Amino acid sequence: MGTKKMLYPYVHPLKPVSYGPKLPEIIRGEGIYIQDTQGKVYIDGISGLWNVSLGYGNPKIREAIINQLDEIPYVNPIQHSNPTTAKFAELLLELVPENIVNVVYTCTGSESTELAIKIARKYNQLKNRPHKNKIAALDLSYHGTYYGSMSISGVDRGISEDYGPNLSGMIFLPTPVKKNPTIDNSNILEVIEKELHYIFNREGQNIAALIMEPVLGSGGSIPLPTEYVQMLKDFCQEYDILLVIDEVATGFGRTGKMFGFEHFNIEPDVICLSKGINNGYLPLGATLISNKIYEAFLDQNTQIDHLSTQNGNPLACAAGIGSLQLINDTTLLNHVTNMGEYLRSEIHSTLNNHKNYSETRGKGLMIGIELIKNKKSYECLSYSHINELVQIFTQKGLIVYPFYNHPRTTGIHLFPPFTLTKQEAEEIVKIIKKVFEQVIF
Ligand code: PMP
Repeated sequence: MGTKKMLYPYVHPLKPVSYGPKLPEIIRGEGIYIQDTQGKVYIDGISGLWNVSLGYGNPKIREAIINQLDEIPYVNPIQHSNPTTAKFAELLLELVPENIVNVVYTCTGSESTELAIKIARKYNQLKNRPHKNKIAALDLSYHGTYYGSMSISGVDRGISEDYGPNLSGMIFLPTPVKKNPTIDNSNILEVIEKELHYIFNREGQNIAALIMEPVLGSGGSIPLPTEYVQMLKDFCQEYDILLVIDEVATGFGRTGKMFGFEHFNIEPDVICLSKGINNGYLPLGATLISNKIYEAFLDQNTQIDHLSTQNGNPLACAAGIGSLQLINDTTLLNHVTNMGEYLRSEIHSTLNNHKNYSETRGKGLMIGIELIKNKKSYECLSYSHINELVQIFTQKGLIVYPFYNHPRTTGIHLFPPFTLTKQEAEEIVKIIKKVFEQVIF
């Protein structure tokens, strides 16, 4: 009993098991602000975990959940259907291109990407080409922590080895990142194109799907160059590879468009969703599939063998309907674009002369501040420096999120709620200025 009292009663993800007691306990939220048990108020600069896009205490979403709760909180998804769950699927399909025709519900982003792998593999089984089962992903990608989603996450390959053997048949593709200014990287895309040709010449026939985030999230809020996305699209066409777009972080307005892939001229075969799907108030995700895939299953009258008890939960879907009604609004999406541009430019001019500053990047309200040891060596910051920085921000009342992809890129993210006002954005910049006046690594 004595030892039990020493511990926090639950384990925090991605922290040493003993870490709990050191974290602020959050009990309240309103708009972009959250409050802990000590009464300290923070600006939530990362919208929960990039999902509470409309902020806390949203009355419309609350009402939608309560109305559904008063009707029925749960419906068995195998033996019954439910109008709220069906309605939300219809609304999702209205938002995506014509070729996307059906919705498979999940509970998380990890489950949505994992399911995309299952679907791509069965699709190729149905097409009588079982050898076509490999999955290509970017080497700075993040797609989640389930076995499949972890196995296709480029950034976590070191960690996932501890849980091996992982899913086999994964191929990692080079991601273009703005590189060290001390080396010539004017032809980075040419070099990458050569590498891609080599990989696809060898493996293209065996690749079932290529999964890609339109702006790499955990990689460090890295927007993908149009030419690069075009190259990947062309390889998919040439080798009949399904193009899976992971919109878990970028979806539902985060980049200033409803979906991140809309910034490019591409037509996904599969779209993976979660996070902002219902403002993060309840667990929900979805994997949307194209006509081509749907028909392959239909032709052989077969099913997608995927179920988890809570998939498509009507309360979670009701929250999704409430949330979509607010997000599907051009004025709000333009606001996301404008506030993103404003923040990036203010942060850049505030930090430009700081020893550890490299660049501010992203799209919409998905913002990455890349930090380095110094402008000569262009080395990444150490893990402990990045963590120390996040803690200093927390003390100063701004929640930011680290990215640490040594030796490629390190820094911090901002994913503020879309309701952010100019004044609140100025407050964020003020805190950033204060922190970097104090901190030089
Ligand atoms: N894909 C992407 C692009 C993500 O950013 C995340 C979460 N950060 C996931 C998948 C996994 O989602 P979840 O944490 O809901 O499992």
